[in-house]
Amino acid sequence: MEPNQRNATQAERISNECAQCGNLLIAPVWSEHLSENRVRHLWNCDACDYSYETMVYLAVRARAA
Ligand SMILES: [Zn+2]
Repeated sequence: MEPNQRNATQAERISNECAQCGNLLIAPVWSEHLSENRVRHLWNCDACDYSYETMVYLAVRARAA
């Protein structure tokens, strides 16, 4: 297996690199909507067991009338 192989189709998806060891995390273990346009993700690294949070700010869509 080539660990440095990239999958371009996943570029726009929610993913993150472990802040400790750089392991690529595909999906958060837990997500919480704080408000209409803010989401908090909790990540847990399988490789080093490090846990951390990220905040995502979503673009507020114009409402269709
Ligand atoms: Zn890690």
